[in-house]
Amino acid sequence: MADHYEVLGVSRDASPDEIKKAYRRLARELHPDVNPSPEASERFKLVTHAYDVLSDPQQRQQYDLGPQAGFEGAGFSGFGDIFETFFGGAGGGGGQRGPRSRRERGQDALLRVEVDLDEVIFGAHRDLEVDTAVVCETCGGSCCQPGTAPVTCDICHGTGSIQRTVRSLLGNVMTSSPCGTCRGYGTVIATPCVTCQGQGRVRARRTVPVDIPAGVDTGLRLQMPGSGEAGPAGGTNGDLYLEIKVRHHDVFSRDGDDLLCTLTVSMADAVLGATAKVKALDGDIDVELKPGVQSADVITVKGRGITHLRGSGRGDLRVGVQVLTPTKLDRKERELIEQFASRHHDDAPTLARFQQGLFSKLRDRFL
Ligand SMILES: [Zn+2]
Ligand SMILES: [Zn+2]
Repeated sequence: MADHYEVLGVSRDASPDEIKKAYRRLARELHPDVNPSPEASERFKLVTHAYDVLSDPQQRQQYDLGPQAGFEGAGFSGFGDIFETFFGGAGGGGGQRGPRSRRERGQDALLRVEVDLDEVIFGAHRDLEVDTAVVCETCGGSCCQPGTAPVTCDICHGTGSIQRTVRSLLGNVMTSSPCGTCRGYGTVIATPCVTCQGQGRVRARRTVPVDIPAGVDTGLRLQMPGSGEAGPAGGTNGDLYLEIKVRHHDVFSRDGDDLLCTLTVSMADAVLGATAKVKALDGDIDVELKPGVQSADVITVKGRGITHLRGSGRGDLRVGVQVLTPTKLDRKERELIEQFASRHHDDAPTLARFQQGLFSKLRDRFL
């Protein structure tokens, strides 16, 4: 099946507004009133379905989590039904099968969190707003109006399944299938809780305090057990996953836990040596330029990179040097350089092997 984000032509972290705009634009182009071709109609269906899913925060989270998220719920009980139809009641494989529980584990949820590079160095705190399901306060997850309780199903007498004897080539075979009246629960809720309509949980907006550890990187998923949706009928909470995105920084980039940047140095400083005071993400740093430093030299400042994830210590700051050739000289400066040149006749340009590794490597790594 086509990816919903691709169908709408938006990125995976598109805002609700961007999704709406993309849908409107495509709808204007593909709506059957405007474009009667069969292809347009097919695409319009896909686009509309993609929009339905992505415009609903719950469904979008679900979709982002991927196919395995829904498996535990729908997929497994589906398998159970098939299992029961083929083998149920015949003993053996199924083992002890009773009525199924209304109580299920809640769904996992996924949230995207953007952090700045300086927050990655030491970690960050966020109070995240989450649209989720919480246990119904009226019934405490029992699904019943307070003072009432589920009653045993008359049809299956509480077993949750209906046994039938079927004639087959192998003789009479006992089969069992889930009871249609109680949907296999063995009990019926005669007076459902009004607040939650008998679900045992309600939708709510909740604030989840989150400590993002130092050292995280884009694409990392942090699991927060029990911070997902409350399950139906008082079931345990699912987990909350935080997917990290580290924002682009104009100066610093990252290589593992090392931070990279380029320092431009005047020709005079490069020749004579100097101490360059630079503003790093975590405060000022003195970068020592030895006399004669060359373009593409890398100066490593130990321990001023990113804190290792769930460890101690930090990576390094690696500073690539770029020596600037002066371009505007006044008369006096020109004379001085000419004097300098006249004493350096031996420094005529010489050919050497093309140094692939030198500056291009530095540049590639830093972009
Ligand atoms: Zn309730
Ligand atoms: Zn029943």
